[in-house]
Amino acid sequence: MTFNDLGLATELLRAVSEQGYSQPTPIQSQAIPVVLKGGDLLAGAQTGTGKTAGFTLPLLQRLHAAQPQSAKRSVRALVLTPTRELAAQVGESISAYGKFLPLRSSVIFGGVSIRPQIDRLRQGIDVLVATPGRLLDHVNQKTLDLSQVEILVLDEADRMLDMGFIRDIRKILALLPKKRQNLLFSATFSNEIKKLADNLLNEPAMIEV
Ligand code: AMP
Repeated sequence: MTFNDLGLATELLRAVSEQGYSQPTPIQSQAIPVVLKGGDLLAGAQTGTGKTAGFTLPLLQRLHAAQPQSAKRSVRALVLTPTRELAAQVGESISAYGKFLPLRSSVIFGGVSIRPQIDRLRQGIDVLVATPGRLLDHVNQKTLDLSQVEILVLDEADRMLDMGFIRDIRKILALLPKKRQNLLFSATFSNEIKKLADNLLNEPAMIEV
């Protein structure tokens, strides 16, 4: 299996080869076709498996393939992460894999000034990576509109629940359009995660690596 076999656009294949990856990891070869087709996904994957590229590459391709009519950019993909470190890391991956596509991404997390984040959001963002608390701060300040989200990713969902983010996650879910693609990544599967997955995912493909 090569990246060429997975149905990725040339812009993404170029970015992958610039990263120096010679072949997809198991999570990538399984997740990329599912996500490209628009399906929901439940993935059991630890960090270090290449899961970030597993969701980022097909997510970018889907956004690029279907450009919205509206001239005004709005958030079309939302990636929630438990920590600012992970948010920053995912944001860097999105920039690297998306460097040949005309999509804009941004990262927002707490513990830093909100003002520059507001300015950046105002410029129009296609892909937003965020921690739940600061995301809701923006929603409450009306500096963020989530009504156009097409793809939701919960990354390290088990850690988000461990950190007590379930209420924030539920509030965020209520703000998203009902019709959307959902991807849930978790290293472990407690009953609480299974319940969240049941509520969130629509006939998901299941992958365990
Ligand atoms: P992740 O599990 O997403 O945190 O990725 C772990 C590390 O694997 C990151 O440093 C990636 O740059 C790297 N990586 C991701 N995909 C591949 C690949 N197909 N081949 C080699 N390295 C990869």
